[in-house]
Amino acid sequence: MANSKTKGQKCSFCGRDKGDTLLMIAGVEGHICESCVEQAYEIVNEELGNKAASKSDFKFDLPKDVTPAKIKGYLDQYVIGQSEAKKYLAVSVYNHYKRLNQKTKDEVEIEKSNIIFVGQTGTGKTLLAKTIAKYLNVPFAIVDATVFTEAGYVGEDVESMLSRLLQSSDYDVDSAQKGIVYIDEIDKIARKRDNPSITRDVSGEGVQQALLKMLEGTEVNVPPYGGRKHPEQKMIQVNTKDILFIMGGAFDGIDKLIAKRLNTQVIGYNNNNNEIMTEDNYLKYVSHKDLKSYGLIPELIGRMPVLTYLNPLDRDTLVRIMTEPKNALVKQYNKLFHLEDIKLTIEPEAIDFIAQKALDYGLGARGLRSIMEVILAESMFELPSHPDIKEFNVDKLYAAEQLKRSTIAKLKVA
Ligand code: ADP
Repeated sequence: MANSKTKGQKCSFCGRDKGDTLLMIAGVEGHICESCVEQAYEIVNEELGNKAASKSDFKFDLPKDVTPAKIKGYLDQYVIGQSEAKKYLAVSVYNHYKRLNQKTKDEVEIEKSNIIFVGQTGTGKTLLAKTIAKYLNVPFAIVDATVFTEAGYVGEDVESMLSRLLQSSDYDVDSAQKGIVYIDEIDKIARKRDNPSITRDVSGEGVQQALLKMLEGTEVNVPPYGGRKHPEQKMIQVNTKDILFIMGGAFDGIDKLIAKRLNTQVIGYNNNNNEIMTEDNYLKYVSHKDLKSYGLIPELIGRMPVLTYLNPLDRDTLVRIMTEPKNALVKQYNKLFHLEDIKLTIEPEAIDFIAQKALDYGLGARGLRSIMEVILAESMFELPSHPDIKEFNVDKLYAAEQLKRSTIAKLKVA
């Protein structure tokens, strides 16, 4: 009961008198009792908890008016050329989401359309996978097939790729179950053709077998932090039936297998379209059969129904890569210089020169950045000490001189 001393002091939230409470905390203009503090604490926790759970903000539906052509349009902003691969990727992602959002369950069950990209290293396979994941706003993980070995051997279990997906979804299992995994260097787990049974093929066929079920869709026990499973570890169960797997590999030498297959086929294969076959375009005839000859097991090939290829990058494509994408290298350096109040101009001949050098040294698109960095290093060092200089011009001669002084120039011409 309220005594006379405390009379008049009420909790500003529930209105109880101080005498009816255990504790009353005074504020500037009011009071709060212990039970209102407790309630407020619960509300705050709940609200913050909800926010944390939704902070990943993943979406699992395509925008309403989206079409495969629009998806390709998005990819075009970041990836130059490779239009065949973009089309296949767009269609397969589009169908993947139709499959996920199927309302009625009838006997026609749409199967998953995992994708495999075949193309030299540095042609944009990972970039395509990354860009599509950004577009879809789903959890995404990149893994390297070479780290996996059959259970019981030094290396990682294939299940650990799902740990990365869980990490990228902040351990939100529902989101991870609808994410995308990009498996790079899938060609490196091909069966060793020249050595079928003398030693156990622990990083080849064994891993392919382990991948099989995962690609198709199954419940997998995943070690939350990756690596090898061990018995005391707490596992997280992940269902892979709605995870889209994209695989990529250079498949060095597969062009020879394709050429061999084509030449032994019924004459007339190419007479229909009068195409002249050069070594460069063999890849576009790549088929599941060639993957089998390369050493992937037929069961695994069956679980990657969408097969497409990426073209090798020529000089013109490298020039476009430097200048056209939304975050193209030239745009990035322009911005860096602009932040110093300097207008940077890289002349077209200098850009051609850089592209040619990346080809000569066999560095491909990945080398463009290191070459640019070398060419601009001196200016990026000096110019901030000269605030009076407002413009900087890079012509072919300057580019060549800067490159000559660097260690890149010591690389052997490919
Ligand atoms: P891959 O996975 O085929 O080995 P990446 O996708 O990792 O090659 O490409 C390496 C880098 O080269 C990318 O980060 C990107 O900067 C650049 N690149 C490669 N191909 C393209 C392309 N077609 N369009 C734009 N950039 C490209």
